[in-house]
Formats: sequence, C-alpha cells, structure tokens
Amino acid sequence: MADLDANGAQLRDGLRYPWPQPPASGEVCEVAPGVLWLRMPLPFRLDHINLYLLQHEAGWVVVDTGMNTAQTFAVWEQVFSQVFDGRPVLAVICTHFHSDHAGVAGWLSERFQCPLYMTAGEFQWLHVQVPAAPAPPWAFTDFYQKAGFSAVQAGEFFAAVQNKHFRPLPCTGFRRLRQGSQLTIGGRCWQVLIGNGHSPEHACLYSAADGLLISGDQVLPRITSTVGVQATEPQANPLRDWLDSIERLRAVPDSVLVLPSHERPFFNLHQRLDQLVAHHQGHLARMLANCTEPRSALELMAVLFPTLSGRFDELMALGETLAHANYLMAEGTLVREERGGLLRYRRAPTGAKAPDPQQVF
Ligand SMILES: [Zn+2]
Repeated sequence: MADLDANGAQLRDGLRYPWPQPPASGEVCEVAPGVLWLRMPLPFRLDHINLYLLQHEAGWVVVDTGMNTAQTFAVWEQVFSQVFDGRPVLAVICTHFHSDHAGVAGWLSERFQCPLYMTAGEFQWLHVQVPAAPAPPWAFTDFYQKAGFSAVQAGEFFAAVQNKHFRPLPCTGFRRLRQGSQLTIGGRCWQVLIGNGHSPEHACLYSAADGLLISGDQVLPRITSTVGVQATEPQANPLRDWLDSIERLRAVPDSVLVLPSHERPFFNLHQRLDQLVAHHQGHLARMLANCTEPRSALELMAVLFPTLSGRFDELMALGETLAHANYLMAEGTLVREERGGLLRYRRAPTGAKAPDPQQVF
C-alpha cells in the first residue's frame, strides 16, 4: 500500500520515495545539486534503466549508459542537445558490465574521447560473450540438460542469449575502480563500494557528505536483482557473495538517498537490505522444504517461480534456482546426485559435513 507523508513522499512497503513519479523516458529530474536522474528505455518488460548524470566543471560525467539499441542512441542525442547544451561528456562510469549498463559505454567514450571507469572484474566480463554460433557449445547444452531441460530447449536458451542487444559495444581500455577509490566530481567526493553476487565486482558510488548512494543493481527497491548461476560457471556460489555484500552495505548510514538503476530513488536503505535478505532466506527455506525427495533444478524452479513466461524468464529463474541450490550445498544442508545425466538435489542427512570448498574436481 502507498501513502503520502507530509512532504509528499510516497511510502510503500517500508520505503520512502521522494518522487512519486519517475521522469518520462528520455527526460531528466534533479535529485541532488548537480545530479540528474535520466530515465532510459529498455526493450523488455523491465522497460527502463536509471542513469545518473553528474555535473563536473564544463561538462558531465555519466554513470551507466543504456543498452545497445537504436532508442538508446536517440535518447542520448536528445540529452546531448537539450540537457548538456553542447557541453561534453568528460568521463563514463559503469557500475557493472551488464548490457543495460555498459551497452554503449564504448560509443560514448569514443565519441567524446573520454575515459571509461570500471572495476577490473567488470571490464573483463564485458569481453566474455557466449560465442555467436549456429548451435550451442557442449557445455551450454550439458548445463541445461543436467538441470532437466531438453537439448531443444537448451538450443532455444542459446538463441535467446544471442540477441544482439545483449552485446555491449567494444571498449578498448579503462581506468580501474577499486574498493575505496575516490572520485571528485563537481566538488563532491564519491567513494567506490564494491559488491558481488549480481555481477563479479559491482561498483556503487557513495557520497558520505551529501548522503547519496548510487547503488546500481546492488540495491534495488521493489524488485530484486538477479543472483544467478549460468552455464559459464556451473559451480559458482553467487548468493554467498550477495549476502556478504548486503552485510557490508550496512556500514552505509540508513539516512542516505539511494539512487538505484531500476525503479525510483528511495530512503530506508537498511529496511531494504533486511527485505533482500528475507527474500533469499525465504527461497532457501522453500527449496529445503521441497527437497525431502530428490528434485531436479527444473522442478525446484517451478516451486520458487511458479509463473514464468518465455525462455528468457526461465533462463533467469533457473540461474536463481541454481544459485540457491549451490549455496545450500556449500552450507552442507543440500546434496546432489547425478543419475541418467540429470542432477537431483535432496536434503543432506543430519550431521553430514559441508563439502570442502577447496575440492573442485
Ligand atoms: Zn545488472
């Protein structure tokens, strides 16, 4: 339920949203002095990403760039002429490598001959692509068949990830962001805070003096960030990284205005961190409760995500399901067995030891 407080801010699910409405697609809204919120369209059900434009001297620093689509280029042209008024982009910062964030970073950097700032982990993953090929590589098909899908369905997943919008434009170089790196933009000091689990080395930007946190996809209101295991690294445990990152973010004061990459800016960071932990704990509990008998990842996916539409949804949901399964296996509460080319998960017998994390083969 949404209510309005005395200042006109919207209260919803324990979070306070100072702007009841987002700017229209391609429009901007000033959320702090020298910080503009730009709404960029996306061609999906999640139909937008928020970019932040930071005023600096005689130009602008942009945080995230949008996806590699014709619409994105059109919006940028509009911003260059109507918002930047001919002033240049001085630097591009990408919170992480995902195609809606870093999709046109290479183009912006080339057009304005300005540097791109990213963490090393994200810059490297920007260049890891599912190979463009008529048929999936064996490891791709193997991953989905072991989860319970057919080879035909695996081929459909492969086709879905070949969509050219998911391929960011190439970037030739970068300047490295690390945990604690400082960027002084428009006289305001931003400190880099690294998070993991949604992507390998995600950068958030925190201004302690002004109480602002550009959170990227590390903290989103209302929707949860994907925390998934993909065919690239079937044994990954991103949920452990994600939950650890949430704990580290509690060092940021609850009073900050959170500027996320999707939905709307909000207050009550700590409440949201609690909600995110509860969301994943709920999934973990449901998974364990359903593993009294051996279950495939496909069966568990239907338990955690009962309503899905289309292969892309399934791809994301399966990744999330496996993230929870791998987490529980690492904790020693779930075990997995392979029979007939299918992996099944069941509760570990009581007193069973957690597997040795050094044992990878
Ligand atoms: Zn992302």
